[in-house]
Amino acid sequence: MNRFDYVRAGTVSEAVQAFGSGQNARFIAGGTNLIDLMKYDVERPGRLIDITRLPLGQIEEHEGGLRIGALVTNATLAYDARIKERYPLLSSAILAGASAQLRNAASTGGNLLQRTRCYYFYDTATPCNKREPGSGCPAIGGVNRIHAIFGASPDCIATHPSDMCIALAALEATVQVSGPEGERSIAFADFHRLPGDDPSRDTTLKPGEMVVAVDLPAQGFATNYTYLKLRDRLSYAFALVSVAAALELDGETIRTARLVLGGVAHKPWRNAQAEALLQGKPATRETFQAAADLIVSEAQPQSANAFKVELARRAIRRGLTQAAAGTPQSQTDKRIQ
Ligand SMILES: Cc1cc2nc3c(=O)[nH]c(=O)nc-3n(C[C@H](O)[C@H](O)[C@H](O)COP(=O)(O)OP(=O)(O)OC[C@H]3O[C@@H](n4cnc5c(N)ncnc54)[C@H](O)[C@@H]3O)c2cc1C
Ligand code: SF4
Repeated sequence: MNRFDYVRAGTVSEAVQAFGSGQNARFIAGGTNLIDLMKYDVERPGRLIDITRLPLGQIEEHEGGLRIGALVTNATLAYDARIKERYPLLSSAILAGASAQLRNAASTGGNLLQRTRCYYFYDTATPCNKREPGSGCPAIGGVNRIHAIFGASPDCIATHPSDMCIALAALEATVQVSGPEGERSIAFADFHRLPGDDPSRDTTLKPGEMVVAVDLPAQGFATNYTYLKLRDRLSYAFALVSVAAALELDGETIRTARLVLGGVAHKPWRNAQAEALLQGKPATRETFQAAADLIVSEAQPQSANAFKVELARRAIRRGLTQAAAGTPQSQTDKRIQ
């Protein structure tokens, strides 16, 4: 048992102040990831700052979109009437993740900050650059079926595990943070990072900064969207490959396309070239195939996950097909087969 201080914050500034420096502090919200990591001895905080009493549990109208407080639970968010109606892609992605019990406890902020599910990261008997910088990455050439096929580095090939974040990336959300140097906004695309030579850092948050809210812009792609999650079991499993597809159509022509993959990289994986390729084209199987081929042409599979490349190719095509047909969950439209 590692000793740690426990502090319950009443305001955001109290929480940020309590973080201090040199305590190896962690904020704790739902605890569904952090407590597991502490039990496995992966995380050894010297101080836990309980943020569950902060007034960050609301979903409010904001600049034509919505502002989601960092403590809104995944369940509350997924079932909120405004989210279901205006941002069903987000609702769908959240409900594809974890279990009902976990979603009741898990928070919006915690979901963004959840750690990778790489087996070695959780096993303190093995080295891991993310857990112990400089110790090595046994996943490279090891058991790497679930690992990255895009954006990996010689130091880490882990993937980002969240479903919710894949939808937030497609919706171009903005993360609001508060820290020792004040408040700032981070575009969702810049919030998570690739491992590079410092896999210990999952995000661009600075020490002591906490997430206070996530903003959704007005455009929700409520008509033509899909969150497609492919995994080993139909529930309670992380994505091997997932696709968030959101289209704005003008008749049969694609006016705007957003396409983000999950389960394949250290951050939600978005390909601007593929989105540009889709724009202005007819919503046909050929168009979707071309976008899928372009994206997977850059894949660099590991020793045991080449299957993900073909899985991603097919998932992209199917996700886009479902989105274009307005049948987000399963059916496909014969027009575009
Ligand atoms: C068995 C199991 C299955 C799961 N399956 C899925 C799945 O299929 N898909 C999926 O997406 N997720 C899945 N999850 C993960 C789950 O969604 C996350 O554990 C949850 O979202 C984390 O939220 P939390 O509030 O409990 O975070 P906590 O455990 O409290 O914290 C997690 C991390 O976030 C930090 N943190 C928390 N809040 C803030 C904040 N406001 N600002 C800054 N840092 C903060 C903490 O310091 C900690 O590092 C699963 C989890 C389990 C245990
Ligand atoms: S892939 Fe990343 S998290 Fe997994 S063992 Fe390698 S360094 Fe650690």
